[in-house]
Amino acid sequence: MLRSVILAAARSSKFERFVGTAPVSRSLVRRYVAGETTADAVAAARSLASDGLLATLDYLGEDTIVAEQADATRDEYLNLLSALKAEGLSETTEVSVKLSAVGQRIDVELAYDRARQICAAAESAGTTVTIDMEDHTVTDSTIEIVNRLRQDFGDTGAVLQAYLRRTEDDCKSLATAGSRIRLCKGAYKEPETVAYQRPLDVDRSYVRSINALMAGDGYPMLATHDPRLVEIGIDRARWFDREPDSFEFQMLYGIRPAEQLRLAAEGYRMRVYVPYGDQWYGYLMRRMAERPANLAVFARSLWTRS
Ligand SMILES: Cc1cc2nc3c(=O)[nH]c(=O)nc-3n(C[C@H](O)[C@H](O)[C@H](O)COP(=O)(O)OP(=O)(O)OC[C@H]3O[C@@H](n4cnc5c(N)ncnc54)[C@H](O)[C@@H]3O)c2cc1C
Repeated sequence: MLRSVILAAARSSKFERFVGTAPVSRSLVRRYVAGETTADAVAAARSLASDGLLATLDYLGEDTIVAEQADATRDEYLNLLSALKAEGLSETTEVSVKLSAVGQRIDVELAYDRARQICAAAESAGTTVTIDMEDHTVTDSTIEIVNRLRQDFGDTGAVLQAYLRRTEDDCKSLATAGSRIRLCKGAYKEPETVAYQRPLDVDRSYVRSINALMAGDGYPMLATHDPRLVEIGIDRARWFDREPDSFEFQMLYGIRPAEQLRLAAEGYRMRVYVPYGDQWYGYLMRRMAERPANLAVFARSLWTRS
């Protein structure tokens, strides 16, 4: 119930204006967001690499309805990719892109075109792109665009959300040779008709989807902070005789950092999703919705400057 209210607020421009003008605690935003500039993102990637961690950088922004904004987002990714190349970070760092940030809600063809330009820049920088997944109204369109991008850039990553009833089947059909697939629980408010509502059902779907991905020929990227699912991922990798470099774990910047280091020290590939930029509102609200304990901190931060 509380989760639904926060996720509804995540898409409310009125509440965004309220939060945007309230003295939201800088330390709360900084816990989840690496900074505002390209240099901040590159510095975070460098620091993670020195700890033996991989990274995927996300320039914050979503649901763009202005073409100039979508162009500006593409330009920032091009800028970021050339910085990663210049800094020698392409081996350890890729980028994550939301299609709605490059205009999916304005014109799907133009969003594809901008995503294509980002993939081309990533290829020439020596790295890869993963296309984030947003709410269920764009699942088909997003998978379709990923499939088109993969015709020229075969290593483009897709994201599937275990809370969607369709996901186990999507895992089976997408887990082809070379296919990079991030599996997450899913972060949006979705109706019962398309998504499991009970956490236990989401977890069961996640486990079935791990099995489908590990049994397939693709490269599974298990994005979760859930200790039980991480253990099941390790167990399933052993069961399916996967080498440690044939799959990876992923977690968000600022969440369970000690666990990230532990998994890397044990020889697993561990990638951290690092958001940066000043459009942090929707991202932060989804993180608040994931953990009731965050709410008290968030509520206090709306009235207290720190
Ligand atoms: C790398 C990565 C990429 C993602 N990309 C997408 C995407 O493209 N589309 C999408 O819909 N979703 C995405 N997500 C979000 C995901 O769908 C979940 O909402 C989020 O990861 C929380 O689910 P969980 O598996 O960690 O399990 P949960 O059951 O939510 O959490 C398990 C445990 O992790 C810790 N934890 C989880 N969240 C928080 C938090 N916010 N603050 C503090 N502790 C926390 C707590 O200890 C909690 O008990 C991504 C997640 C990751 C890690």
